[in-house]
Amino acid sequence: MKALRWHGEGDVRVDEVPKPEIEEPTDAIVEITATAICGSDLHLYNDFMPGMEEGDILGHEPMGEVVEVGEEVEDLREGDRVVVPFTISCGECWFCENDLYSLCDETNPNAEMAAESMGHSPAGLFGFSHTLGGYDGGQAEYLRVPHADVGPIKIDSDLSDEEVLFLSDIYPTGYMAAENAEIEENDTVAVWGCGPVGQFAVQSAWMMGADRVIAIDRIEERLGMAEGHADTEVIDYSEDDVYEWLMDETDGRGPDRCIDAVGSEAHHTCVDVPDEPDRPYVLQEAIKSCRKGGTLSIPGVYIDGVDDMPMGPLMNKALTVNSGQTHVQAYLNPLLETIENGEIDPAEIITHRGSLEDGPELYETFNDKEDDCVKVVLEP
Ligand code: NAD
Ligand code: ZN
Repeated sequence: MKALRWHGEGDVRVDEVPKPEIEEPTDAIVEITATAICGSDLHLYNDFMPGMEEGDILGHEPMGEVVEVGEEVEDLREGDRVVVPFTISCGECWFCENDLYSLCDETNPNAEMAAESMGHSPAGLFGFSHTLGGYDGGQAEYLRVPHADVGPIKIDSDLSDEEVLFLSDIYPTGYMAAENAEIEENDTVAVWGCGPVGQFAVQSAWMMGADRVIAIDRIEERLGMAEGHADTEVIDYSEDDVYEWLMDETDGRGPDRCIDAVGSEAHHTCVDVPDEPDRPYVLQEAIKSCRKGGTLSIPGVYIDGVDDMPMGPLMNKALTVNSGQTHVQAYLNPLLETIENGEIDPAEIITHRGSLEDGPELYETFNDKEDDCVKVVLEP
């Protein structure tokens, strides 16, 4: 079969590889019909993530048709159409029982690698390095799905692939980010980053009753897309001082809830970009801007330590911080309902489509934020 594989920094290729087979009785094999490229894939593409090996199959936002199931799989059958969450969870450990699926204790066979730096390991993830399990990803014609009764959600309705695909990751991620921000009615919410995750965080903040939502980025197309969701206001950080703008607009109090939907990339855009040497990290800016006693939600992925994390301001301003990889399984059913009842159309953010063969070029386009690219979907 064909698969998109990682061959080093900025080097993704379409390779011919063996088709996956059932390895455990709880596995299913899914023939992929649609699969997206995520901002998280860019951390791998840019070689920020330790534990990558040449030839790793990428991808963690897939859906398709079940073509084979292991003998212990009860809920899925051949022919079922499913969306597959990026988090691999056993469904039985203490964390899964408490709906903390992305922290599953049983699905990272290389848990000690992750624990070296973190003390513990989160769940295994599809296509996300050997540190997080070494699982083949879903930017391929077929995918082996472990714990097939726990992750995939069946789609029986006639919703298109594009309408439901983002249940695999970024819609639940934006939604959990807004939930983690602890939004209450009349709150002002600021979202750093108008990539796919930021777009869903903005929409979710409105769904949760925010009074004002302010989105921050420097890419015109993405700011424009954010402005299209209800009454979202935007700040172009290449033109305005974000902290000053936010203070001016909130009587000096600051936004009640701040969401960092940028993550590691902020180190690179803020520190390594020669024309912005003094721009603070998103985390520093969000902590500085957030109202006293407010909440900081961090869906953005951080891989290594962030030096100069302002612990003093965080503590003295009594901020609450919530973060984490998304517990996707906990959100699948309720968020599918919001798509079915027309509350949201996730497909709206798709700007680029292609085949697996187009993958390498589309990785480059998405990474460089060229050609007004917001979200790429591949159809193997
Ligand atoms: P993306 O790269 O498409 O979007 C990031 C956006 O941030 C870009 O539009 C960029 O211009 C903007 N940005 C960069 N520096 C900024 C700054 N200093 N201030 C404001 N905006 C800035 O990525 P995405 O797909 O939207 O993902 C966003 C983050 O969410 C990534 O770190 C990704 O790994 C993470 N993510 C987390 C989870 C999870 O489970 N927590 C799941 C999916 C993605
Ligand atoms: Zn993702």
